[in-house]
This record gives sequence, C-alpha cells and structure tokens, in this order.
Amino acid sequence: MSLYRDDGVVLRTLRLGEADRIVTLMTRGRGKVRAVAKGVRRTRSRFGARLEPLSHVTMLCWAGRELDVVNQAEVVESFRAVREDLNRVAKAYTLLEVVDQLAQERHANARLFDTVLGALRVLGERDAPLLVPAFLLKVLALEGSAPTDDVCVACGAATDLVAFDLSEGGVLCRSCRRGRPLSAGALELLRRILGGGLASALSEPAGPLVDELSDLATEATEVHLDRRLRSVRAGPGA
Ligand SMILES: [Zn+2]
Repeated sequence: MSLYRDDGVVLRTLRLGEADRIVTLMTRGRGKVRAVAKGVRRTRSRFGARLEPLSHVTMLCWAGRELDVVNQAEVVESFRAVREDLNRVAKAYTLLEVVDQLAQERHANARLFDTVLGALRVLGERDAPLLVPAFLLKVLALEGSAPTDDVCVACGAATDLVAFDLSEGGVLCRSCRRGRPLSAGALELLRRILGGGLASALSEPAGPLVDELSDLATEATEVHLDRRLRSVRAGPGA
C-alpha cells in the first residue's frame, strides 16, 4: 500500500465494529475518499474527535483497494462556531450532503472542495441567510447545470422574464411562462450569485426574496441529483 497526504472535509462517519469508523471525506486531491480510522471510538484514541463531520483535516493515509486507512490526522479548522449553532449546523449538513452526492470517489474535483470549504468558512463567520441557496447554485454551475438566467429558455427574449421552470432549465418570459413565478428581485439575486457577485449576495438579509431563491435552488438541485435533499427537508437533528 502507498502512503499519501491530503486535505479533506469530513462528510460523514459510520461505525465499523467495536472501535473503528469508516470516514467519508471530500479531499482536495482525490475527490471523495472513504477511509478506516482505527480505534477512533476508544477514549484514548489518537484521532480523538478530529474525524467528525465538518472538520477540515490534513491527513496521512494508506491507499487501499476499496478503503484507505488513516495513519495520521490533524485538524486544520474545526468550525466550532458552526457546531455550536443549531441553525448553522443544519445548513452545514446540507452542504455536506450535496457534496457527498455529487463527488465521485477518487476523482479529483478541487473546485468542489474549494467551494464547500469556502462556504463553511463563511458559515463560520456568520449565518448568512443566502448561503445555502448560493452554494447550491454555484455547485450546479460547476456541474455545468446552472439555470439559464439571461434570456427566456423558450424564445430567447431578454426582457419581461417572470417565470422559472426547472424542467426547461431556466427563466421564461411572460408569453412563454410556465413553472413557478419569479420575482424581479429573485432574478436579480440569481444573476448576482451566478455572475460573480456572490459576496454582495451573501449580505442579503433574510426575507421573502431569500425564501424564494432558497426554494428555487433546492428544487433545481433536487432535479439535478434526482433525489430529495434529506437535510433541507428534515431540518436540524434529523
Ligand atoms: Zn419566451
């Protein structure tokens, strides 16, 4: 077996026997990795609580055929402020769930890694109302599945865009409208998020616009993943 070092964000953990755990991580260099952490559940474990979901760790692993084995792990960021706030934990788990669904095992996707790490850092600083929808839309864009936001997807009209249809993949004008109604404010926010104005979008206060964009982004992601997002629907503690 060969030894490698990589950075990763812990997505989830699963008990394995009496004392061990299988840890699923999104790594910078190898995509999604599943690794066994031996003795992690013993009180005097050398890994302690380092390999808990949310932690950004740097680790040394033995590469295995199916599962790797964690040799060393150090916490880079624990995101304690997120862990101590139920609202923010729920949001963080939505990010982790989406990454877990999208990332491929042992297939590097550094942009997805950077995007989730960046989102966790924002969440560590403040509970930005638009963080989750912005993250979902950014990730859809990385996947090449961003909704069309500049012209009507049916006729190409650039004005009077008043609806959004998930199966059509974007916005629709008044004559072609179907799907859900889209307010001018939500369209403007959508364009800001997808067009490089993410930082300003993240200072958007909670309210109907954020709710509208949140529903839109959640549904667009669910259509892309072809499954429901457990953590968004169930809320914290599920
Ligand atoms: Zn149209």
